[in-house]
Amino acid sequence: MAYPVKDSIKPFKDKMWLASPTMHGEELKYIQEAFDTNWISTLGANIEGAERAVEPRIGVAHAVALSSGTAALHLALRLAGHKLYGRPAIGRGALEGRRVFASDMTFDATVNPIAYEGGEAVLIDSERGTWNMCPEALERAFELYPDVKVVVMAHLYGTPAMSAQIKRVCRAHGAILIEDAAESLGARYFDGEAWRETGSLGDIGCISFNGNKIVTGSSGGMLLTESAGDAELVRKWSTQAREKAPWYQHEELGFNYRMSNIIAGIVRGQLLHLDEHIELKRTVFERYREGLRGLPLKMAPYDAERSTPNFWLSCIILDEDAMCPQERGRCEASFTPVHGKSCPTEILKVLADHNAEGRPIWKPMHMQPLYAGNGFVSINGDVGADVFRRGLCLPSDIKMTAEQQNTVIELIRRCFD
Ligand SMILES: *Cc1c(COP(=O)(O)O)cnc(C)c1O
Repeated sequence: MAYPVKDSIKPFKDKMWLASPTMHGEELKYIQEAFDTNWISTLGANIEGAERAVEPRIGVAHAVALSSGTAALHLALRLAGHKLYGRPAIGRGALEGRRVFASDMTFDATVNPIAYEGGEAVLIDSERGTWNMCPEALERAFELYPDVKVVVMAHLYGTPAMSAQIKRVCRAHGAILIEDAAESLGARYFDGEAWRETGSLGDIGCISFNGNKIVTGSSGGMLLTESAGDAELVRKWSTQAREKAPWYQHEELGFNYRMSNIIAGIVRGQLLHLDEHIELKRTVFERYREGLRGLPLKMAPYDAERSTPNFWLSCIILDEDAMCPQERGRCEASFTPVHGKSCPTEILKVLADHNAEGRPIWKPMHMQPLYAGNGFVSINGDVGADVFRRGLCLPSDIKMTAEQQNTVIELIRRCFD
């Protein structure tokens, strides 16, 4: 008996992106206002407008607009160090020689700012329920390093971390909790008392408006805090730390981290569409869940009772016994095809061959040569390495049509034929 030969699938004419900007029109209106009033630089109504729009939305008292999410994380770490250990001497970081706990499986922008301030990241393994920082591993880390006073927690791919447990551990050890909500803007979490937005769950929140995030300013970020004094301090540091004086008076080190009023115009326009983007992202996620049913894989996990992700990227993880061998070298990957099995390397290749963009899961920081010498705390085997090995992100652009997504789904199905 001959096998039925499936028609070959043609590559997409236009690339299916992982996540690309989706503009609506209001963005241009706010930019036009900036031009018309000649407020082109890092002051103006759009910056004010974007900050005032984010505060009630996330439920924080103060939002400070900055040039990027990375800048927000940097100033959050500097602020934490400053509060704990005082103003650093010139040329020294605020966390000089101090260890800081950080999510391990994340983009390196979560962790790098620790080093900007002279600190040493100790990486905390993920748990299986949300792929974010494991509260038990964090507790274990405090046993190993009881002097640590700063924790950076990321909400991966828009899925809230086990924030209440992590916060409880931080409180018990008197540590400041910095939240990296760059990927999770608009995601909600029930902390035991109320539903809150990510970015408002820790002591200092950081969000990003980078080009591929759920809403974008083309770039940009914000630091979120309940403290008017801290917001003022961060605002000052972000504008070269000028003192209030008739001349340029400098008493501490500053940075040029302010958001431009043009970018803030895009952010302002985009924020009007955050909920709509979340709904569309959820639709993409659910279509994958339906379409991939029956295959030996699972959608990225989340706690449906205590959280509502923003579904920024739809990710999957292959079952262990459905994995064909894959080799990942320093900067290259290959796989050995096996009938009925597949692996992230194969699926990513098939997608790429068809002009669709997938992405491996963030390679855990403890596996990065950059952080090879840093501490890594894990309690249930190496969860991050396992998710990295078996997981991947699928095209999650909200402009992808149902038909296009069905083609992506069919391509993935065929990897297991
Ligand atoms: C995008 C991102 C950042 C950095 O934001 P930028 O605005 O690009 O500097 C930080 N952390 C995570 C987890 C991110 O995904």
